[in-house]
Amino acid sequence: MSQVIAPSAANDKTLLTYSALNTFRNCPRKYKNRYLDKLRPRERAEALSFGSVIHTAIELWYRSQNAESRLRDVLTYIDDAFEDRLADSNQMVQWHLATAMIRGYAERYAIEEFEIVEVEKEFVGEIRNPDTGRQSQTFRIAGKVDGIVHCHDGLYLIEHKTASTVDSSYLDKLWTDTQIALYCHYLRELGYPIVGVIYNVLLKSRLKQGKGETQEEYEARKAELAAKNKSGKSTAKRQMPETDDEFQVRLTEWYSRPEAFHREFIYLSEDRLAMLQDEVWEITQQYLDARRRGKWLLNTSNCFSYQRPCEYLAYCQSGFNPNVADNLYEIALPNEELSRVDSEAPPF
Ligand code: SF4
Repeated sequence: MSQVIAPSAANDKTLLTYSALNTFRNCPRKYKNRYLDKLRPRERAEALSFGSVIHTAIELWYRSQNAESRLRDVLTYIDDAFEDRLADSNQMVQWHLATAMIRGYAERYAIEEFEIVEVEKEFVGEIRNPDTGRQSQTFRIAGKVDGIVHCHDGLYLIEHKTASTVDSSYLDKLWTDTQIALYCHYLRELGYPIVGVIYNVLLKSRLKQGKGETQEEYEARKAELAAKNKSGKSTAKRQMPETDDEFQVRLTEWYSRPEAFHREFIYLSEDRLAMLQDEVWEITQQYLDARRRGKWLLNTSNCFSYQRPCEYLAYCQSGFNPNVADNLYEIALPNEELSRVDSEAPPF
């Protein structure tokens, strides 16, 4: 999700996103680097990540429910997202996977168990003091959810994910998804009586396109087989690379399996939502204190979380040398993802 946005014209409070709050909680200095000084690493992965392509593909799928060309349009989007695939083998791998995944999804969920209420819903909500119920005079919270659906017993927030496996530890981690739980609370405040979350998980097949044998590999295998044969000969044929069509057939077969897609329903307790409200309030109070005193602590235990160095490591290591900032970072507004925020009433 997204970041801090400039105070809105209609309301002079600063809009915070979960991402901004979480960044401040994990490392106040990182918050300052990204959200106040607006430093963004110059070297960024330009190519769209596989997860974001699938996310957009699913968004398109649900936005065009009644269009006859629905599947074709989504597949065209995937073709465009990996337009350099003929020259770039990595793009080709991702294109194959995305194409088969979406085809499989369309087949599996041709008839849905829910009705779509909202797709990519953006919202703004009030942050409140949990003791008095009063609104923060300084902040509001902004966010965007993948969708809201009506299913069985009520409204659910739907969250699309891609994963390599869905095992017990993956499912346990869903419980720790504070962002989604918090967003449920704010959507309830806006009049959507959300009862839970549906995690809509699309599994990533590990199948690989067959490369075939080089002439040398074939000769070696043939000689080995011939040596084992009494006649001293072998009728082995060279294994040729798997064609794109053959690979798509294998992937399609994989995506017809029940375990290729998973939907996990999670219900949210009132206690948990209340606890999150407390947390958000506390973080905003700590933020106000840091801002008032101009102290942005470095949380060095966070520098290598997620098994990789923080993108600001070089800058922090340099003691915030302005030359390092100029060389390695550019100035970029931290609000790329939330295009528009509103607090419209729900359609019921
Ligand atoms: S390198 Fe470490 S201290 Fe610096 S911003 Fe990142 S997490 Fe914080």
